Order: sequence, then C-alpha cells, then structure tokens
Amino acid sequence: MGTLADKVVLVTGASRGIGRAIARAVAAEGAVVVLAARDEAKLAEVRAEIEAAGGKAATLALDVAKRESVEAAFAALLAAHGRIDGLVNNAGVTRDGLLLRMKDDDWEAPLRTNLTGAFLCTQAAIKPMLKQRAGRIVNIASVVGMTGNAGQANYAASKAGLIGFTKSVAREVASRGITCNAVTPGYIDTEMTAAMTDKAREAMLAAIPLARPGRGEDVAGAVVFLLSEAASYVTGQVLGVDGGFHM
Ligand code: NDP
Repeated sequence: MGTLADKVVLVTGASRGIGRAIARAVAAEGAVVVLAARDEAKLAEVRAEIEAAGGKAATLALDVAKRESVEAAFAALLAAHGRIDGLVNNAGVTRDGLLLRMKDDDWEAPLRTNLTGAFLCTQAAIKPMLKQRAGRIVNIASVVGMTGNAGQANYAASKAGLIGFTKSVAREVASRGITCNAVTPGYIDTEMTAAMTDKAREAMLAAIPLARPGRGEDVAGAVVFLLSEAASYVTGQVLGVDGGFHM
C-alpha cells in the first residue's frame, strides 16, 4: 500500500511540467488524483497515462484565477469524491520583463494566477478540510520568491507572497489538523524554463552545487512527503528543491 492510499488529492496545473510529475507520483502512492488546469484535452492525456500505470485519476477543468471557476470545480469535486485530503497549488505563469517597461497587465497576471489562484483554491479546500479536521495543503512557490530575480519582479513578488500566505494559513488552521507548507523549486526543466536563453541557462547551472537542472520528479518527491503521514508534524515550512542553489 502506498503512503497516500485512497486519499483524494487535487493538483492544479497538472496538465504538464511539474504538476504532471506531482500527479503521477501522488497516484503511484495510491491516491485518487484530481488533475486540474484549463486545457481539458491535455488533462485527459495525463489521466490516461496515470490509469495505464494502474493509478486512479479524474480531471477537472479549472481556471484558478477566477472565483466562479474555482467554486464550480470544488463543488464538482466534492459531489464526485465527497472529500478532499490534499491540495497542491501548483498552477503558475510567468510574464518576464524589466520593471521599467512592465505594463500593469504583466504585473497583475502572475499575481492573479500564482497568488490569488492559491488563495481561491485554499479557501475552497479548507471548508471541507475543517469539517474533516484533517487536510494537507502544499504550495509550489519558487526559490526566486526568496532570492529575487532580475526581470521577474512580478513573478518573484507572487512567489514571496505565496510563502507569507503559506505561513499564515498554517497558523490559522493548525488546530484543526490541517498542515500548510511550501516547496521552492530552483531551476527545473519544463516548458516554463524552455524559454530561457542559453546564456541564462549556463549561468543558472554554474550556480547549482548539484550541477544539474532539476526534474519534475525531484519536486514531486518533496510534495509526496508533505502530503504523507510522515509529515504530520511539519507545518508552515518552506522546503527548497533546488540542487543547493539557495542555502
Ligand atoms: P508549466 O508552464 O510547464 O505548467 C504550468 C501549469 O499551470 C500548466 O498545467 C497550466 O495548464 C497550468 N495553469 C496555468 N495557468 C492556470 C490557470 N489560470 N488555471 C489553472 N491552471 C493553470 O510550468 P512548470 O511546470 O514549470 O511550473 C509549475 C509550478 O512550479 C509553477 O507554479 C511555477 O511557478 C513553479 N516553479 C517552476 C520552476 C521551474 O524551473 N520550472 C521553478 C520554480 C517554481 P493550462 O495552461 O492548461 O491551464
């Protein structure tokens, strides 16, 4: 039996990249994984992949940046599964650019998805979790939320905000048996980082003590731990998965 046997775990941004790796790992530990993102066709591919490996998965079309969409999706999830044991707030976007030229929309888009999205999903998830007197929330922040990064003032602000959000939620719900932690990936090979220039990639790799880019599976291992019984006394923490980039 896996460490998450029969738990119902929602992973946002599960259609590709880190979210997809998290979903596969969570399903491999025996959970029913609910795959959420905007692109339903891609979610169906991930679901088929998980089922082919013997796992249990369901899909949920969801735009985390919109309250109506989040509320409708959580109503559908609870109608179908009756409970939610884990929430992984992984959906995220970048809109890189230097501050001097940053348009309002470029500033707001990462905040809306990365921070407000986590707020909306967490608010919807803690209602049933409070009744269950149990639950696990894992927020995928980023190392740049701690170090900052030129060209990412908007994204770094959203991720730094997510870390403060994580600690505040952890304090609010701890007495009800709910934990809330953050994972801060460093440089992970996904479509998000594929847009980096060769020069930026080389500079990043030179600064990583473990001397390789991370994989989605590296992040997934930390998330599975935080969702599992082994982490029942861990809350309000920020777990770096960055090859030693920031220590
Ligand atoms: P990708 O761009 O590969 O995937 C992003 C995922 O988020 C997709 O599944 C996308 O699906 C979903 N998504 C985006 N916007 C929304 C929305 N409004 N509602 C619902 N789903 C949405 O990114 P990564 O896998 O690289 O990143 C995953 C997380 O990890 C992000 O939060 C990112 O900030 C963080 N991270 C990544 C790092 C890296 O090096 N790659 C480093 C540090 C942190 P769809 O478009 O179909 O909605």
